Amino acid sequence: MKPIVTFEHVTKRFGDTVVLNDFDFQITPGERVVLMGPSGSGKSTVLRILMTLEDIQAGVVHVDGEPLWHEKHGDELKPAGEKHLRRMRGNVGMLFQHFNLFPNMTVLRNIIEAPMRVLKLPRDEATRRADELLERVGLVDKREAYPNSLSGGQKQRVAIARAMAMRPKLLLFDEPTSALDPEMVGDVLQVIKDLAHEHDLTMLIVTHEMGFARDVADRVCFFCDGRILEQGPPGEIFTRPREERTRQFLRMVL
Ligand code: ADP
Ligand code: MG
Repeated sequence: MKPIVTFEHVTKRFGDTVVLNDFDFQITPGERVVLMGPSGSGKSTVLRILMTLEDIQAGVVHVDGEPLWHEKHGDELKPAGEKHLRRMRGNVGMLFQHFNLFPNMTVLRNIIEAPMRVLKLPRDEATRRADELLERVGLVDKREAYPNSLSGGQKQRVAIARAMAMRPKLLLFDEPTSALDPEMVGDVLQVIKDLAHEHDLTMLIVTHEMGFARDVADRVCFFCDGRILEQGPPGEIFTRPREERTRQFLRMVL
């Protein structure tokens, strides 16, 4: 199967800081990939590049067979225009540590806003889609509530419903439970696990929750110093890591 995501020889720098150096990475459609690794190693940067929130200095990133930063003009690649980027962004949804809900909109409105504005869905269809998703994340009764009346776990579940309402091909999670009180982590992880059963959804998840990674991941990548040091099925990486750096890291987070 053709990969849905490819990074080829990608370099990403912030000033003198090289975050990705000749980085290669692929994800197969439908795959659930967990990215783990030390703080500052570049995990969020990988996700932000896929969301086109960061540009790259060298190499090429493809999503669903199309280059992110360039457009094909026959055999030539030219820098992408706004229109191309907007279309490419439509394929990808991202969940942040801090939910980023619109505070002045109800839960329902938060979910229907982008489908109506970006996908041009009629309000009743967007609302139907939103109600279905609220059911799935267990928040039907919060439909008319405002974000500041919700717990962190509830906000994150709304954020998940909002991302799903755009029917992305690729869903990115950046430490979705790290800002939550411990008693709320379980509910959010359960919602993500339930989504993982969707056939045509591909997930890339940055998390340090081992139990969750074991349940949900087809592949765990241990990421450090801007590259993938080792990767494999969770059972392998967690029980028989080959690299000393991986062992050190696992001892720390377990
Ligand atoms: P991780 O998510 O693995 O903790 P990040 O991708 O956030 O790591 O960051 C990787 C490196 O890039 C870090 O050294 C960080 O300080 C640096 N970095 C990230 N974003 C910026 C930015 N906007 N400007 C400058 N440096 C940045
Ligand atoms: Mg990060």
